[in-house]
Amino acid sequence: MTTQTDGQLTVKKYFTNIWDAVSSISKGMAITMGYVLKEKEVTLQYPEEKETLPKGTRMRLYNDVDDCIGCKACATACPVGCITIATEKRAVDAPEKKSSKGTAIKFDLTQYTIDKALCCFCGNCTTVCPTECLFHTTEFEYSTYNVQDLKIDYLSDEARSWKEKALKDRL
Ligand code: SF4
Ligand code: SF4
Repeated sequence: MTTQTDGQLTVKKYFTNIWDAVSSISKGMAITMGYVLKEKEVTLQYPEEKETLPKGTRMRLYNDVDDCIGCKACATACPVGCITIATEKRAVDAPEKKSSKGTAIKFDLTQYTIDKALCCFCGNCTTVCPTECLFHTTEFEYSTYNVQDLKIDYLSDEARSWKEKALKDRL
């Protein structure tokens, strides 16, 4: 009966290790190649190409201030207090004004700001808005170098100029 020497055992272990390494790499690559050949391309060439956002996505808020009745329900519902509203009661003899839902507008807005740096995108404010003038849009490209720029004044000309796009992007 012959017995293996220490040298033969070392050589055998050496080749066994190589075989184990090649075999496990092959199994991993087989799984990877299966996905490479089966799955469709997922990389998008952003910003030229963009993902279609699912319904219910909550990105930048927009307030169509002309349709806002100044009820402050949104500010009351906001858990972080990032909505600031100031209103003035309309004069009794002022021409009648109604929201698109037919609600009488008895207050004029003198301030409507949302600090998007504080907003947690919970959606409470849009849920309680009786005229649905406050809503989330798909707009997410508004990063800035200055955090103060995230405080949006919806009565400003700039914010008003977003209206057409915001209504189109409304979710
Ligand atoms: S989404 Fe939530 S945190 Fe943001 S403004 Fe509305 S209520 Fe406040
Ligand atoms: S809940 Fe709607 S209507 Fe009332 S103040 Fe807020 S945005 Fe305006």
